[in-house]
Amino acid sequence: MFDTLSDRLTSVLQNLRGKGRLTDADIDATAREIRIALLEADVALPVVRTFIAKIKERAKGAEVSGALNPAQQVIKIVNEELVAILGGETRRLNLAKTPPTVIMLAGLQGAGKTTLAGKLARWLKGQGHAPMLVACDLQRPNAVTQLQVVAERAGVAVYAPEPGNGVGDPVKVARDSLDEARRAQHDVVIVDTAGRLGVDEELMRQASDIRAAVSPEEVLFVVDAMIGQDAVTTAEAFRDGVGFTGVVLTKLDGDARGGAALSVREVTGMPIMFASNGEKLEDFDAFHPDRMASRILG
Ligand code: GDP
Repeated sequence: MFDTLSDRLTSVLQNLRGKGRLTDADIDATAREIRIALLEADVALPVVRTFIAKIKERAKGAEVSGALNPAQQVIKIVNEELVAILGGETRRLNLAKTPPTVIMLAGLQGAGKTTLAGKLARWLKGQGHAPMLVACDLQRPNAVTQLQVVAERAGVAVYAPEPGNGVGDPVKVARDSLDEARRAQHDVVIVDTAGRLGVDEELMRQASDIRAAVSPEEVLFVVDAMIGQDAVTTAEAFRDGVGFTGVVLTKLDGDARGGAALSVREVTGMPIMFASNGEKLEDFDAFHPDRMASRILG
């Protein structure tokens, strides 16, 4: 997804190599090129502005150190600031002191929530947890069946409303699932919720009600990295309407520009915790800001 951005930044920084000293004009010119590369990759404007201001300030104030030549110093600064924008440290899942830990998924329809539920469950199972998926998307036809299929593939339990029992009331399903988790000793409960094609009030209210009913340790906002600048506006709408504790970027295997998704952390202040890069359950991992920055800077 970040090949073009990566190529652009690498070539901008390449131009600095071989220079013995960098003048302020060199730094300004480099900053301008980086700015264009970021904007063309769809990184949100306020994020670009802050980023560029920091690069300039730090590059101009940098002491010439023995170990690094000026070009290497700028590359180091760009790398560090990119890691910072992506969230700095990898943020681990918060686990409940008394199980079950509840993880709620929220996001637009098609963002990849149901797929993510399976991926996350498989990943947690690999770490020794006994997760259970909960089907609270009662809007979309087939959503419950889809979650059951995903659970079977991941080899984990699923809690879904029996036909005629709780159908249409996702809050009740979420609440009841906690009793089932305690009974069957599942230490993590992953609640899949309904998404709409666009942000709407009813969706927000339902997600807020589920959140209030089950007090999740984590609410993960799931966002398709392919949707460009809408990733930022949707994130803001979910932050204000439901609130979330972390972000999951999906479809990083796509060929869109992706910079908008990379802006979500800086715009909402919430960490990117996981990344999905394919349709298979194993196409998934914790999000590491330093690794992503290295990938982007080539
Ligand atoms: P939901 O409506 O949010 O539950 O979204 P789904 O989990 O049903 O996913 C919507 C579509 O996106 C499905 O066709 C998934 O196979 C696909 N999908 C989900 N995650 C990824 C991903 O990381 N990469 C790709 N290429 N496709 C994905």
